[in-house]
Amino acid sequence: MSRIQPLKRTSTLALRQRKTRLLASFQLPPDVLHASLIERFLKCGKANCHCHTGGPKHGPFFYLNRCFAKGQLQSLLLKSPDQIAQARQSVAAYAQVVQGLDQISQINHELLRRGEPLVATSA
Ligand SMILES: [Zn+2]
Repeated sequence: MSRIQPLKRTSTLALRQRKTRLLASFQLPPDVLHASLIERFLKCGKANCHCHTGGPKHGPFFYLNRCFAKGQLQSLLLKSPDQIAQARQSVAAYAQVVQGLDQISQINHELLRRGEPLVATSA
């Protein structure tokens, strides 16, 4: 994850150029997904299984968890390696979108702080 340089020392022109580059490269991936990919090892339902007597648990099982308001959680068990790979990619795509938005947002915040217009007026 690339850290944005401290914006207060960056010239307004450089900020605008950076924002232009960010906006030009910004894409909304069609597979974007806001969730967490969770890996779990679990005990099974057989009382005499090794997993109940200190042996290794079963797994890994992969779940896609989505949070709703008031602590509600939706958990989806991913059943195939292809689903797991897709989920991993989609969750990463979401993080990338958020990172891009956040960088643009930081630049806009700094432009506002300077009393600059957020959208440069063309001459
Ligand atoms: Zn077991």
